[in-house]
Amino acid sequence: MARKGLLSLFASSWWHLVFPPLCLHCDQAVSDEKLLCPDCVSLLQLLPQEGRCYQCFIDGLEIGQERCHTCQQTSLPWKRAAAVWDYLGPAATLVKRLKYGGQQHLAAAAAAFMVTQLVTLEWPTPDAIIPVPIPWLKSLSRGYNQSELLANEMGKLLQVPVVKALKRYHGDYSQAGLNHDQRQQLSSHRFAFRDGYDIADKTVLLVDDVLTTGSTLRHCCDVLLAGYPKEVYALTVCRATG
Ligand SMILES: [Zn+2]
Ligand SMILES: [Zn+2]
Repeated sequence: MARKGLLSLFASSWWHLVFPPLCLHCDQAVSDEKLLCPDCVSLLQLLPQEGRCYQCFIDGLEIGQERCHTCQQTSLPWKRAAAVWDYLGPAATLVKRLKYGGQQHLAAAAAAFMVTQLVTLEWPTPDAIIPVPIPWLKSLSRGYNQSELLANEMGKLLQVPVVKALKRYHGDYSQAGLNHDQRQQLSSHRFAFRDGYDIADKTVLLVDDVLTTGSTLRHCCDVLLAGYPKEVYALTVCRATG
């Protein structure tokens, strides 16, 4: 082994002796640089479609029912929306670390589960993946858009182009503390279609980190429909509960 290799092996062993790798969620020691301990991994079961609304992915539906009461009353612009997990436990930690903790490498792991969910739900392989843009002030302070990282990793796995067809042209405020109606109002002017992208007759997949009220996805999707896609699917890592 080269001297440089030996040195880095020594440095890494020393580092792990003093600072053993810990589970991302519960801080239990983990082996082989794993992100999560076996207990936390066991909590990462994909949310099933059964009992969930095809359009907003809320659970509690009766067998054979495809849409929840609200979605029966309202027509949503996408064909299907789903999440991989509820925004709880290790899944929530994964998203928070990716979004707020600067741990961009976590996008690859989350995207692998997103692809698995897409296949499990028997959605078609999209022709293009479109990330939900974040306000430019956030992208400036964070240095990246977590949804774009997720879309890029999904694109690599599915061999599908990532198309940044949406832009967010104002709304640099946090939605925290706002009620459902206020969020809806603020979202109505936030997104625009970038010129030069052709999504006509294409199946597109909109990607975001968390599905909360669905208003962000709804407004993105409304804008995308101006490009006449064949159909729009929306997938997020987590779905907020309650
Ligand atoms: Zn753990
Ligand atoms: Zn619904």
